[in-house]
Amino acid sequence: MTERIQQRLKWGERFLLGALAVTFGALIYLAAFSGAGPAAPVPTPTPTSIFLAQHPHPRPQGLPAKKIGIIPGHWQNDSGAVCEDGLTEAEITLSVANKVKGLLEWYGYEVELLPEFSPRILGYVADAFLSIHADSCEPIEGATGFKVARVENSAIPEQDDRLVACLWKEYQAATQLPRHEGSITNDMLHYHALKEIAPQTPGAIIEIGFLRLDRETLVLRQDAIAQGIANALICFLEGGP
Ligand SMILES: [Zn+2]
Repeated sequence: MTERIQQRLKWGERFLLGALAVTFGALIYLAAFSGAGPAAPVPTPTPTSIFLAQHPHPRPQGLPAKKIGIIPGHWQNDSGAVCEDGLTEAEITLSVANKVKGLLEWYGYEVELLPEFSPRILGYVADAFLSIHADSCEPIEGATGFKVARVENSAIPEQDDRLVACLWKEYQAATQLPRHEGSITNDMLHYHALKEIAPQTPGAIIEIGFLRLDRETLVLRQDAIAQGIANALICFLEGGP
């Protein structure tokens, strides 16, 4: 090794040491004076934060809240469909309705839960009305998916159809459940509450899934279910789809 190369190495080492000292000093300065400390943990998305990411603009303050009436199917009346192990339609619909209410209220809407049968439903006036039910727990082949309907002799068919369209679209997008249109029954088309509410109140009924084959979604993925329903009501109230 020639002397010149040794000299060069020494200069190189000095330069490296100097650079390290400057970097180290800068780090100590930052730690001491920036107050940053260790990086904050990234928050895990909650249903609300997912919801807000999809609908980032809350209703402007100062506007009167739009009112939404929701029947958790069978609430304060009967259990609805029942599974062998005791799981009931009524406990699912109430839990889902409460989650929908929480989301929509956070967003600035006024939400009222109504019993399945109540004098308050007669002539009920709201910007939207929805009854939430779940389907049979019987072992029926192909009994999976959700469906939506409005009352057959609606006084405002265009509005009701728009609400129904928002529900088909947003509920499927949030839950990935298939449509089960083939099983829309007369019970849905002549659902009592849709005939009792005021004729000018837009209304629909949704069967959110079957208690047997869709049980996992209905029990464990209620946040997705609630988000789909809340998104559908916002879609309708804010002029979509
Ligand atoms: Zn029901």
